[in-house]
Amino acid sequence: RCRSQIISLLIDTAVPRGITVWDWLFDSKYSSLSSHTPSSIGGYENAITKERVSYHDVKTYSTYICTALVNRYGLKAGDTVALFSQNTIWYPVAMFAAIRAGAMVSGASPAYNIEEMTYALKTGHAKFLMTSPPSMEVATAAAAAAGIPKSNIFLLEGELDGYTTIRDLIEIGKREPRQTPAFKIPQGKTNFDVCGFLSFSSGTTGLPKAVMIAHQNVIAQCLQVQQITPESHKKVLAVLPLFHITGLVHGLNLPILLNANVYMLPSFTMKSMLDTIVEYQIAELLLVPPILIRMVRDPLVAEYDLRFLKRFSSGAAPLSEEIIQELKARFPHTGFKQGYGMTESCSCITAHPQTHYDYKYAHAVGTICASTTVKIMNEEGKECNVGEPGEILARGPQIVMGYLRNEKATRETFDEEGYLHTGDQGFIDEEGMITITDRIKEMIKVKGIGVAPAEMEDLLLGHPKVEDCAVLGVKDDYSGELPKAYVVLKPENDANDKTGKELLEFVKGRKVRHKWIKEIEFVHDIPKSASGKILRRVLRDAKVRENGLL
Ligand code: AMP
Repeated sequence: RCRSQIISLLIDTAVPRGITVWDWLFDSKYSSLSSHTPSSIGGYENAITKERVSYHDVKTYSTYICTALVNRYGLKAGDTVALFSQNTIWYPVAMFAAIRAGAMVSGASPAYNIEEMTYALKTGHAKFLMTSPPSMEVATAAAAAAGIPKSNIFLLEGELDGYTTIRDLIEIGKREPRQTPAFKIPQGKTNFDVCGFLSFSSGTTGLPKAVMIAHQNVIAQCLQVQQITPESHKKVLAVLPLFHITGLVHGLNLPILLNANVYMLPSFTMKSMLDTIVEYQIAELLLVPPILIRMVRDPLVAEYDLRFLKRFSSGAAPLSEEIIQELKARFPHTGFKQGYGMTESCSCITAHPQTHYDYKYAHAVGTICASTTVKIMNEEGKECNVGEPGEILARGPQIVMGYLRNEKATRETFDEEGYLHTGDQGFIDEEGMITITDRIKEMIKVKGIGVAPAEMEDLLLGHPKVEDCAVLGVKDDYSGELPKAYVVLKPENDANDKTGKELLEFVKGRKVRHKWIKEIEFVHDIPKSASGKILRRVLRDAKVRENGLL
């Protein structure tokens, strides 16, 4: 057998296959709530306003809201409830209410515009929408376009005339004579077969798709991460967006299992983040590379005494060796760890074990999670040897069900043996540590958030002057990568600065900021295969030869 195929330790197999995330976290012998006194129970706290809900409150409120939604608004198991909001402590309350009803919860970036949100609602087949006042304008327009009635739009925070708030739902539920029973996994099915969460990702190719995350994927991933998490990890900084898989697992579900407190920042500024870290003495910081870059570059950081920090944790995108070295020099008392995975692997495939919280291992993304098998395959379809890079394939209880109502993409990404094809290239070393060497899939990662080139190409092809185009990621010091468009103009148009600016503005007017195109390069043709697929690697290699590093 190939040496790159490593099967790691088994996770606790005692969790029955018939349990939902809600029962597991709140209402079973596995629940951390049962082993802690009410005063020592963790919770979600707004770090600015100090508003807090303990996990006991989350259980009580989500039961009332679930009852109100089921009894009064007709929410059914299998329906999709979309959450469209900045980080708030009411996000998990609404999320667990929907989960308790057996619904699917889909998250969306609060920065989405009407078109993007409409796409998310339609792709996720959403029937209900929970939002907050700053997102209301986009929410109502997108809901109308996706056929969601106004009566099915609820406010997570604040008040607006004509809208039911989450507090109203709590009151409605409380007044019901009987609370609706929590959803159970149907007979003949397991918690691997029932989807609880939908998260958007473009995967290895094409447009963003709704990734179906099963109840057991979340349970298994929480257990996998718990196994390598120090007992002392009791304070979680939730600056990463809750709609992304990292926020969903590490900011919402896992903290309940660990009975940790979560400190939420409704909107991110360096100052509010640093104030929060110091106020609550948060010793481990899970951040994405652009924020880690600011930790070493932003002069504001010098104004804070951060000697209590124990370690940095990075994920969602590659972190350069230069920044790793700067972090080590600037914070010599800290350790370092990474997690690597995808939405399609419900967060981590690999993570640093406690024995490796050291900058000397920081180039790697850790060892393989418990109960997970990784195969590394070369271009000839053979398994690689130790130290030889190839595509990373992963199989385990955290690998998700597939894409909602998209058989074709599901079959292309998850093979018959159950392996997820990550589209990432890496190798495994003698110690079992994995290092990522390249991304061979289309996806562009801007500040840790995935951007689908196909989505940007579809948009540009809709411009009257564009004949053909291809979008690739180019390196950027701060964002990691930014999209760059190669454009073939229709014959009668001039390839000049004015046309370039016009195309950049066209994108800015239609897409959320992290998708904005950094630059346009006019070309004579786009390399394509016989079947019409863009040959991205050919284009990328040609451009690297022409212009140096992309
Ligand atoms: P997403 O589905 O948005 O979580 O994006 C998943 C992709 O992000 C992976 O397939 C990788 O390309 C990239 N990624 C995630 N974590 C890391 C990491 N620690 N180092 C390098 N790339 C990463």
